[in-house]
Amino acid sequence: MVINTWNYTVANVEAWRILMQSPGGLGQTRNAVVEGINECEKQQCRLTVGYGGSPDERGETTLDAMVFDGKTMDVGAVAGLRTINDAIKAARLVLEHTHHTLLVGDSASDFAVSMGLKSESLVTPESKKMWEQWTAENCQPNFWRNVYPDPKISCGPYKPKLTEEILRHDNEIDHKSHDTIGMIAIDVESNIHAGTSTNGIIHKISGRVGDSPIPGSGAYADNEVGAAVATGDGDVMMRFLPSFMAVEAMRAGKPPAEAAEVGLRRILKHYKNFEGAVIAVDRLGTYGVACYGMKEFPFVVGSPANMDQPTRHEQVRCIPPQEEVNVVKL
Ligand code: ASP
Repeated sequence: MVINTWNYTVANVEAWRILMQSPGGLGQTRNAVVEGINECEKQQCRLTVGYGGSPDERGETTLDAMVFDGKTMDVGAVAGLRTINDAIKAARLVLEHTHHTLLVGDSASDFAVSMGLKSESLVTPESKKMWEQWTAENCQPNFWRNVYPDPKISCGPYKPKLTEEILRHDNEIDHKSHDTIGMIAIDVESNIHAGTSTNGIIHKISGRVGDSPIPGSGAYADNEVGAAVATGDGDVMMRFLPSFMAVEAMRAGKPPAEAAEVGLRRILKHYKNFEGAVIAVDRLGTYGVACYGMKEFPFVVGSPANMDQPTRHEQVRCIPPQEEVNVVKL
């Protein structure tokens, strides 16, 4: 089976096609995840995967991606790519041709080019326009705090504000402009691959890396148990490794739907104002999905249940909003 976040049908259809190139999908899960996700990168799934979306403060689109092999526990990931659109393929190259886990920034792009991927600008007229509009609106919203000039009304450059009391505000950023693809593929012998790709969060501070390329946060897989992928406010989510938590909860005996909730509930103990979703699948292909900060969360499942039309759309209702805690003294 193949399952992925959001309503990214193109990715699921492509992954399923690849998986079915061998009986029971045997030996194809890595190809399925990489090619399925790459389809989203090429088609700029909702402008949140691949080139031309989510410009950062400098107007650049940067990509993060990861591939996770649940059999070997090998991982390849890249972050902050400014010139490579096939981010998931770059992640695969890290997995297959290095002993490293995560390469970042322009050096990661250089690596990808040296291994045969194409270098190209990820900025498009559309992403430039998004950035220009943001600049024209005094750089609102943005991700700064405790700086001057006041980031709620002014653009940078900012300097640290030295106060005795540093206040932590829950994020008041518009949550609508980020939607990572996270995908899990499982073959008939329970070989699992999980993967992610994203252009992160719009208006992020240059250099920001999200949760998607972080093992255990954006994705985690273990053939003995199952896998999980996550999407949402990566800055908060990566502090809790929700994909790892989901897999470990399944290992401890929780069904996938409950396991998917574990990480989100842990985050909720500390942050009420975030948006996130976790998909958890056990090694037999039973899946469960949990979300918070939205009403519903859509996802796509490809499975042999209906061979005529293996790809179907589903959605779950999210955990209801918890009480706000706006300011916490550290
Ligand atoms: N988690 C991604 C990030 O923070 C964005 C998303 O999934 O919506 O980079």
